[in-house]
Amino acid sequence: MSAPWPPSGRIELPDTDEPYWAPEETMDPEQRRGVVFDKLREQVRYCWERSPFYRELWSDAGVFPETLRTLDDLRHFPFVKKEQIRADQVAHPPFGSNICCPPEAIAHIHGTSGTTGRPTAFAISRDDWLRIAAAHARIMWSFGIRRTDTVFIGSFFSLYLGSWGALIGTEALGARAFPFGAGVPGQTERALEYIDLIRPTAFYGTPSYALHLAKVAAKRGVDPKDFGFKIMFFSGEPGAGIPATKKRIEDTFGAICIDSGSMAEMTPWMTNSECSHRSGMHLWEDLVYTEIVDRETGEPVEGDGEGVPVYTHLERTSQPMIRLYSGDLTHATSDPCPCGRTYRRLPDGIYGRVDDMLIIRGVNVYPNAVENALASVPGVGSEYRIVIERPGELDVFRLEVESTEPSVADAVRDRVKSAAGVGPDVVVHPPDTLETTEFKSRRVDDRRNTAASTPSH
Ligand SMILES: [Zn+2]
Repeated sequence: MSAPWPPSGRIELPDTDEPYWAPEETMDPEQRRGVVFDKLREQVRYCWERSPFYRELWSDAGVFPETLRTLDDLRHFPFVKKEQIRADQVAHPPFGSNICCPPEAIAHIHGTSGTTGRPTAFAISRDDWLRIAAAHARIMWSFGIRRTDTVFIGSFFSLYLGSWGALIGTEALGARAFPFGAGVPGQTERALEYIDLIRPTAFYGTPSYALHLAKVAAKRGVDPKDFGFKIMFFSGEPGAGIPATKKRIEDTFGAICIDSGSMAEMTPWMTNSECSHRSGMHLWEDLVYTEIVDRETGEPVEGDGEGVPVYTHLERTSQPMIRLYSGDLTHATSDPCPCGRTYRRLPDGIYGRVDDMLIIRGVNVYPNAVENALASVPGVGSEYRIVIERPGELDVFRLEVESTEPSVADAVRDRVKSAAGVGPDVVVHPPDTLETTEFKSRRVDDRRNTAASTPSH
């Protein structure tokens, strides 16, 4: 018998000494797959009924709610990419054709905080907001945060969803929240005074901000260990999952450093989170189901091979994401964690991106920038290939595009050169001659001996 869907988001706080919040955390993984499947089936059916976005996407791919007979059948459903969400919001402003709740049910509006490109708006319903809070509270419990803690939130309170997620998790857990914020001139000095006055026991922010705070403290002759933080949890940057940075934070503050975070679109974004043992982020899969897929084939990776996390909401009713392709790189393990939770873990965190930059003739080139430049030339198709070879001393950068007009080559070269800093040799093919790809990575064919990419986040 399956539980009612969606869950209410009502909180039942465990006893303080209880290490786990919910039975799913320590469940036999096979049994938990049953729980996940029951939720997924409801979520997919809900999307089919309410979301023109998914009805069109899935119909085009020949999949339907009935396609989902086992959890493994999810692989037949197409990925959703951030670009599609953005394009859909352009076509159906402001929230896109994937808004599944009536306007009056929307409780919170957030959005992407990047400074370039069209923003993507997130509309979150009141019920979803409660469920997100409950999910975060449950995960923060695994950090060791309890009602007696005071959580200092030292990050921007604006579009950035991270701060809000930490705030509502703290509130739902019944702990004390200090939404201090960040980014105002003089605020870090103020933070030192408030930390001394209020004595928070936990900290949320970005790793770089925590280290900045420590530096400002040191200048004033204050040892950050004297702040009294016991638990520090982070998102927004990969640092807390990078061993050297983690160690530096723990040594500087005398607190445990916890890495967390998936994507803003996937809020509750904390469903990738370490526990207090810090052995890599657990995938809290009965809250958000995560597949790791091969970057070339798109098929789920078996075992602990490298791949791209693909996320699926299981209890989201306002803007559900089904198979959101993150573009990140990671690998997962099923080895037991000392905490006793049976979730898989990402032992090395999220350590790179599929679309990592290329170094061509000494210049950093982002395939996204090339694509962006290409897209600005009228008459050029969306399919392209970046081919890099080094026949002699110099890199040869060739860009293969599709167009009915061979004369677009000059315009393409000029735009790409001004956007990427390196001008390609442009080869123009007739339309529909380049193989259609699902992945950006396949569009880059680096034939040089040494791969010249650097992981970034
Ligand atoms: Zn654990």
